[in-house]
Amino acid sequence: MPSKRLEGKTAIVTGASRGIGREIALLLAREGANLVLTARNLEALEALAAEIEQAGGVKPLCFSLDVKNAEKVEELADKTLDKYKRVDILVNNAGVTKDGLFVRMTESDWDEVLDTNLKGAFLCMRAVSKIMMKQRAGKIINIASVIGLVGNAGQANYAASKAGIIALTKSVAKELGSRNVLVNAVAPGFIETEMTQALAPEAKDKILKAIPVGFFGKPADVAQAVLFLASEESNFITGQVITVDGGMVML
Ligand code: NAP
Repeated sequence: MPSKRLEGKTAIVTGASRGIGREIALLLAREGANLVLTARNLEALEALAAEIEQAGGVKPLCFSLDVKNAEKVEELADKTLDKYKRVDILVNNAGVTKDGLFVRMTESDWDEVLDTNLKGAFLCMRAVSKIMMKQRAGKIINIASVIGLVGNAGQANYAASKAGIIALTKSVAKELGSRNVLVNAVAPGFIETEMTQALAPEAKDKILKAIPVGFFGKPADVAQAVLFLASEESNFITGQVITVDGGMVML
């Protein structure tokens, strides 16, 4: 029995340059995974790879990637296969917000969010699914949001992208279950990262009042849920959404 939960497994993490993705990468590395770190900011990925290596982990492969670019996504899958010979885990975490009132929402803000959050996840899932199906094993974890479950004024594009990711998760889980490729989503609530830093203090106070546990989440809280879904402990779980939100949304 290996002492680390992901010893010998290969994991791709998108949006690993900061925030939740960075924390997921650090935790998966601590659990013994061979990592492929991707985001647009290669410098930040290389700094994270050095940190992981210094802490005794396997030096990750860093790959500069805009998830909207289908060709580069295919290249990512090829490079991962070349280096590690398999892909066991994909964490689709890359995401953006371009908030604004619906009636004033520009087409470019709609496209940027949908293309990054939803199409990006689709492209990455499609590229690794072929490999995972051949292996007859794989775990895909999509980072959604509670906003995709309940909607939010000022975030129509973001909510649509995250609701889309949840529907995508369930559909692909149904298609790939027979090949032992398990697909689940994690839906964080309010997590303290750069993405949420920009919110006005009054908006943050209002959100805090809606969280039963009375505090905001940390990237590590999301990473622990991802680790569970990436590990052998979740081998009978597919097509599910785990909310990590301090009880903010209970459906
Ligand atoms: P963040 O700090 O803004 O980090 C976003 C990450 O996504 C960065 O690593 C960024 O890297 C990457 N990224 C953005 N656009 C990309 C693109 N086109 N191609 C590749 N990578 C891209 O955000 P976060 O709070 O950690 O959020 C991570 C995920 O959790 C997102 O999917 C977000 O929607 C979700 N989430 C967050 C919260 C929250 O409260 N923070 C709540 C619910 C869900 P580069 O800029 O280097 O490309």
